Amino acid sequence: MYDWNFTMWEKENLTYFTIPSFDETNIVKVFFTTRRKGVSKGYYSSLNLGLNTEDTYENINENYNILCNTLKFKKDSLIFSDQVHSDKIYIVDKKSDKDNIKDIDGLITNKKGVTLVTFYADCVPLFFLDKKNEVIALAHAGWRGTVKKIGKKVIEKMVEVYNTDPCDCLIGIGPSIGGCCFEVDEPVVEEFKKGFKDISKFIDKVNDKGYKYTIDLWKINELVLIEAGVPKENITISNICTKCNSELFFSYRGDNGQTGRMAAIMCLR
Ligand SMILES: [Zn+2]
Repeated sequence: MYDWNFTMWEKENLTYFTIPSFDETNIVKVFFTTRRKGVSKGYYSSLNLGLNTEDTYENINENYNILCNTLKFKKDSLIFSDQVHSDKIYIVDKKSDKDNIKDIDGLITNKKGVTLVTFYADCVPLFFLDKKNEVIALAHAGWRGTVKKIGKKVIEKMVEVYNTDPCDCLIGIGPSIGGCCFEVDEPVVEEFKKGFKDISKFIDKVNDKGYKYTIDLWKINELVLIEAGVPKENITISNICTKCNSELFFSYRGDNGQTGRMAAIMCLR
């Protein structure tokens, strides 16, 4: 097993992860939640934060109360993505922007008082911080978003809008399904081959006949971000597989599709 590069915090009311390199800057609050210590039942047990799940409104709302009270966020500062495995990115300028966010998998802001929130159960959470200009971003990169290079597109947007230098950016690649568990069929491999010149290092055949493969989405996202100009040493891969750690995380694959969602949460201090 790999060493975990995100830090786990086991508090009385909440279990969550932080990213050491981001915390050291003192300019952001950044978290990734787990499934522990919420109030939801059954498939959603227990800290389900997924707004588009079939969990009850009361339970989801109470889970957000627990989150906001423990991590000291104002509930009305939360701005949610509307994820559809797209590569669309939205710049959040003010809280009222929340009404405009449709089919959006990436959020960027440089505004204090805005808290970005994106959702996960195996897909890859990407965290971005431009330390110099104090710009933050989150992106949801499932395999489709990874093929579309959403990570690179976020960096390009930050360069265009905020004059970001990719060398000033820190990246976190959060808990998600690892190369140990992400089995796919030939058509998915074909999509990756179309998008990348040499992907063979990150795709392994599971059986000799070559019907099944595993894909390392962490390494491919790292590659995409390096291609966008981010230095390798600025990228922290959590090395935490959501399917291998089922008592800590909701896992779409591990729970056969019926499951809750964790959240990535970030704001400027
Ligand atoms: Zn695994």
